[in-house]
Amino acid sequence: MGKMLACKDVGVNCDFVIHGKDEADIMRQAAEHAKGCHQNVQMTPEVQAKVRSAIKEEGGSCCGGTSCG
Ligand SMILES: [Zn+2]
Repeated sequence: MGKMLACKDVGVNCDFVIHGKDEADIMRQAAEHAKGCHQNVQMTPEVQAKVRSAIKEEGGSCCGGTSCG
């Protein structure tokens, strides 16, 4: 199962959603997206930490959460 990141969960007014296979993939795509779409956002360690904490597991098939493993 992959991971996802909603741009607005990082605190920007943007409906872009990133889907990736793992956290590193998300981080790479987030950096690309920020470069193209949020040129005023710098990928500082602080912002990277915020992005990491906003990454979610993608689509639980049974309960929709993470508790069913
Ligand atoms: Zn965005």
